[in-house]
Amino acid sequence: MIGAGHAGLAASRFLGERSIDHVVLERGEVANSWRRERWDSLRLLTPNWQSRLPGCRYDGPDPDGYMTTADVIAFLSRFATVANAPVRTNTSVTSVQRVDGGYQVTTSGGAIRCRCVVIASGACNLPSVPQLRTAVPAAVEQFTPFDYHNPGRLPLGRTLVVGASATGVQLAEEIHRSGRPVTLSVGEHVRLPRTYRKRDVLWWMDASGVWNQRYSEIDDLIRARRLPSPQLVGTPERSTLDLNALTAIGVELVGRLSTIRDGRGLFSGGLRHLFSLADLKMERLLDTFDDWTRVSPPDIDVGEPERFEPTRAPESSRLQIDLRSGEIRSIVWATGFRPDYSWLHVPVVDEKGLLRHDGGVVESPGMYALGLPLLRRRKSTFIHGAEDDARDVIDHLTNYLAGG
Ligand SMILES: Cc1cc2nc3c(=O)[nH]c(=O)nc-3n(C[C@H](O)[C@H](O)[C@H](O)COP(=O)(O)OP(=O)(O)OC[C@H]3O[C@@H](n4cnc5c(N)ncnc54)[C@H](O)[C@@H]3O)c2cc1C
Repeated sequence: MIGAGHAGLAASRFLGERSIDHVVLERGEVANSWRRERWDSLRLLTPNWQSRLPGCRYDGPDPDGYMTTADVIAFLSRFATVANAPVRTNTSVTSVQRVDGGYQVTTSGGAIRCRCVVIASGACNLPSVPQLRTAVPAAVEQFTPFDYHNPGRLPLGRTLVVGASATGVQLAEEIHRSGRPVTLSVGEHVRLPRTYRKRDVLWWMDASGVWNQRYSEIDDLIRARRLPSPQLVGTPERSTLDLNALTAIGVELVGRLSTIRDGRGLFSGGLRHLFSLADLKMERLLDTFDDWTRVSPPDIDVGEPERFEPTRAPESSRLQIDLRSGEIRSIVWATGFRPDYSWLHVPVVDEKGLLRHDGGVVESPGMYALGLPLLRRRKSTFIHGAEDDARDVIDHLTNYLAGG
């Protein structure tokens, strides 16, 4: 097993239950990505009651709250103990190669031969930043979610945040509130209210079965796997953080950053169209929830259907900003994440750097993956999504070892 995040630990638990000899190799400590790769104010956007792993669930006093990163580290560390996971910490996997009957795994602590490898090394190892970052004038400081910690580390003056998914909207809000005005560059995005009909919107995703949708039922799986994260934030106030909320505090919205030419950032127009599309998709999802209430158990208490104000488009949005003028002092690239398979020397990675797999069964005998977007279900990358995926994948692995 490579990686002691929640996915690797969940799989370890199922391997242990089946008495399959294994080791979990972790380059840092348990929950390493939560220790090293998150910004200070981050809280889970999934509510506490939803944080569950096989045989371990949140049992604190605030089921409707949202964990801080310190809480997530504590939760995963507790799970590693409960699961009795044989984690070898501070052990980096530097190479995996196919050899007769299995794999040769080279680590910073020596080599291991094994019949199976489960890759649970995460989908978000590196920030995904467009190549055009190299055209940004040197006077503008650049940050990614990996080196952004809090707004205090940014220079004073206007920040351009590129990307308006979960990370982008959260960072735009906190940077703007710190007194640094923000311009937010918005591309395709997924709008969601924090609460709907008296419940957390993620309760609806769960209850209505949307999150359980199988990868085999999805029409355009490649596109669905690339869908940006929803505009959601976990705060004690359970507030909605959509583009209207950001406009209300004074964040400037511009279109997608399409290129940087001669020091000028050029942005797409058509914000109104982009917003209508996101509003429409949200409405469709809310319709799905409403349809579900008509067949749901009668004792479930939910409020009346709600509809939300359409996203307000600015009268006009800037189509270019001169990045040499000194107006923009920093850029935060909230343009997504990608996995790092630089250590994987088996030809199972496609030209986009993604693993070729069918529901976690990688195109190399005895090799498996977990924790990737829509691996087997819509909920696959979320903490509560690991249990079902890990069970299925470890079932397959068990059959493989048995020669089935
Ligand atoms: C900013 C952000 C916010 C998120 N918010 C939520 C949320 O609110 N709720 C939710 O349910 N999910 C959330 N997620 C999604 C998901 O829970 C996390 O990405 C989670 O960390 C994924 O778990 P994992 O076990 O698949 O991978 P990771 O937690 O990334 O674990 C992979 C482990 O593998 C190790 N590793 C990697 N490469 C090697 C190597 N070569 N050798 C040895 N070890 C290696 C890493 O150190 C790491 O510990 C969020 C993700 C991000 C990036």
